Amino acid sequence: MIFKFYNTKTAKKEEFIPSNPNEVKIYSCGPTVYNFAHIGNIRSFLFVDVLRRALKLGGFHLNQTMNITDIDDKIIREAIAGGVSVEEFTKPWTDAFFEDLKSLNIQSLEHYPKATESIGDMISIVGKLKEKGLAYEKDGSLYYSIQKFSKYGKLSHIDVSGMKSGARYDADEYEKEDVRDFVLWKNRKTEGEKAWESELGIGRPGWHLECSAMIRKIYNSGIDIHTGGIDLLFPHHENEVALSEGAFPEETFVGTWLHCEHLLVDGEKMSKSKGNFYTLRDILAKGYDVKQIRYHLISAHYRSKLNFSLKKLDESKQALERLQNTLFRIMSVLDFNWDKLDSSQSDLLRERIKTERIRSFVIDFEAAVADDLNIPKALAAIFDFVREVNSGLDSNAWDNNNLTEMIYSFQVFDQILGLLSFEKPLETIDANDKTNIEEKIAERIMAKQNKDFAKADSIRKELLEQGIQLLDNKDGTTSWKRNQ
Ligand code: AMP
Ligand code: ZN
Repeated sequence: MIFKFYNTKTAKKEEFIPSNPNEVKIYSCGPTVYNFAHIGNIRSFLFVDVLRRALKLGGFHLNQTMNITDIDDKIIREAIAGGVSVEEFTKPWTDAFFEDLKSLNIQSLEHYPKATESIGDMISIVGKLKEKGLAYEKDGSLYYSIQKFSKYGKLSHIDVSGMKSGARYDADEYEKEDVRDFVLWKNRKTEGEKAWESELGIGRPGWHLECSAMIRKIYNSGIDIHTGGIDLLFPHHENEVALSEGAFPEETFVGTWLHCEHLLVDGEKMSKSKGNFYTLRDILAKGYDVKQIRYHLISAHYRSKLNFSLKKLDESKQALERLQNTLFRIMSVLDFNWDKLDSSQSDLLRERIKTERIRSFVIDFEAAVADDLNIPKALAAIFDFVREVNSGLDSNAWDNNNLTEMIYSFQVFDQILGLLSFEKPLETIDANDKTNIEEKIAERIMAKQNKDFAKADSIRKELLEQGIQLLDNKDGTTSWKRNQ
């Protein structure tokens, strides 16, 4: 597969050629662990997952990193307010982040470094910047002099001509219009504040340093791909470039920059500060399942804004059921042993799909994925395939070889989707069990009518433990199925 990516740096779609295909180096800005991730954040984590799965499907070997920001202005404020240490404050949120990844079937990356474990690496970058005359001191803190870095503004394509010389910013986040020198090392302002003792004084590093330092620590070189949400392009990524290329001018910091667009709610960016956010748990508590959330969030192109709505979650469920039911339908007519392969064997999968009519859909699917991760187009290829499969099943047009190849095709699709079940459904269910399930459903409907949602949830859970999944619609539970 030949990949093309839209590179923010050049504002062009380019062929992706990593410096070493046996170790593609990818870094993604990760969560700030001061609360549950909202599903806007989760969209950006799912984007990293799709990128990973796509490159693996293309045969690349990956060495990926996502950082955990466990120290910043907000975290310090909240830890002080709660009377706990920064570590105590961030631990449960870090755990919750990993739980969310797991439940969304997001693949684990090779590294998840924490900011607080990389302070020495940050200090050493500041040392290099001082040597090169790019840093200066003011009131005990250190700042980056952006006028001395001629490439400043090139990544985010901003005009720096109106830049105020010597104007400074201490805050971690600020607006695009406000181009100023940013802080490298903040001296401690109050006694209780988390601080480190170093040759730069007692204080803590500015947030932008974190990613540059971790990339240095893990790869000791530049990287092939850097990703993040579009909100991070300025100032954060622009500052990362200034830091890394300022400290190591002999190397290119990042080959390809990929930025994921925002998730919106009612046309506005979903964000914690606006209060218009849902966490994954909020949505699960409403009775939706993780698969439909995953489907919804990956189904739009990563460079398009995506307007979140509960109605679209319902549509996602239907779309997903159409895929899964087609797969079950094939499995129910095919009495054949096939082995489930993983993405490292994707060449093997491809080889097994020989029938031209079937293969063409897989080719279209892969071409769409390789073309700047065009998932909407890839999904269109899957649904064309599903239509073809079903019409052939209706007319008994497929032989066992065809059906087996279709299962392999679904396996290729699922390397990216991460949503399908390949276990054969149990066809029979005991009449007693059936009555019991239906009684439980009636009990749950009553509980919901009485607003006893805890009971309703516990019944759902109990049935799920028995392998029964309830299918809710807006009028309540109307059906159920054996969970795969
Ligand atoms: P944070 O936890 O705020 O540091 O953000 C983690 C990641 O989520 C970053 O890559 C952000 O750019 C991204 N992000 C934040 N809000 C949204 C949103 N509404 N839609 C998509 N990505 C977002
Ligand atoms: Zn970053």
